[in-house]
Amino acid sequence: MTGKADQRELENLKILQGVALPEIRDKLDACPVRLLDAGEQLLAMGQPNRVMYMILSGRLSVHLEGGPKSEPVAFLGAGETVGEISILDASPASAHVVAAEPSRVLAVGDEVFWTLVDASHDFAVNLLVMLAKRLRRNNATVDDNIRLQREYKRNALVDALTGLYNRRWLDDTLPRMIKRCARSQQPLAVLMIDIDHFKRFNDEHGHASGDAVLAAVAHALRATLRPTDMVARYGGEELAVILPETGPRAARGVAERLRVAVRETVVKDPTGRVLPRVTISLGGAIIDEDDPSAKGVLAAADANLYLSKQNGRDRATL
Ligand code: GH3
Ligand code: MG
Ligand code: MG
Repeated sequence: MTGKADQRELENLKILQGVALPEIRDKLDACPVRLLDAGEQLLAMGQPNRVMYMILSGRLSVHLEGGPKSEPVAFLGAGETVGEISILDASPASAHVVAAEPSRVLAVGDEVFWTLVDASHDFAVNLLVMLAKRLRRNNATVDDNIRLQREYKRNALVDALTGLYNRRWLDDTLPRMIKRCARSQQPLAVLMIDIDHFKRFNDEHGHASGDAVLAAVAHALRATLRPTDMVARYGGEELAVILPETGPRAARGVAERLRVAVRETVVKDPTGRVLPRVTISLGGAIIDEDDPSAKGVLAAADANLYLSKQNGRDRATL
């Protein structure tokens, strides 16, 4: 039966706690019940949404930047609601929401939503309490990510020469990414990269050419990585790559691809003359479950980078 929400399902909804159901029953009964297959997408990040969905049964997963097929950052179960924020501030959906299993949701359109706010004091209070709780749940991943995204935009966290994230961004983000991967029991790899003999290159070809090479290396790395991988400029000619959900084998493959991509990159100096190619050395490490710190994994990657330098450069160690 998909037609209507039954009494028990309605009583289970947090947003309707203490609400005199008979008074609003006709309004809810006028709302369609949607049946979702497992994998079916309900909301798409950035797309307009004017519906609050009350989850009657099943389970929905919430996804952010990585898209609707990425690792979920949260699950919503029967009794919870989704979509109300879009109605409240007339903004697009802030996340992808997908049915994690066959689910039934009551689709309350914005008109009915506002009618409920008007008709029921308890409904309005529940809504406020729910929003307040959500605001307070500082550690909850969804809020964290949305807040983080805004912070990134506000602050200058991108390096002007390379267009990569800067050190500050890395210091901020890596611990969060480590936590997220730990929560979903996924590995996470970090690569430290350093351009070989770059001082000599600058001395021989000038600083402007060095800058052009640095920008080209950054571009080559970005172009070789997946959209969910992240690159930051760690220091002068040192770069760091974060590979979420990546174990040692895959990380080794990525490191090798990056090494080859850079040594094949052709760069011209500001006058159009083709410059000699540069190479990079890489060192990688996987998060250690016993010491899942950003500092630890960066130090381990750095130690391996040092080995790559020792063993002749233009190579990866991990
Ligand atoms: P190694 O292979 O051992 O890494 O040798 P290296 O010369 O690259 O190492 P070192 O750390 O001694 O030198 C790094 C050089 O990178 C020094 C500096 O001139 C250059 N460098 C750092 N940042 C920039 C930059 O923003 N632009 C340019 N053009 N050069 C930079
Ligand atoms: Mg260096
Ligand atoms: Mg160097």
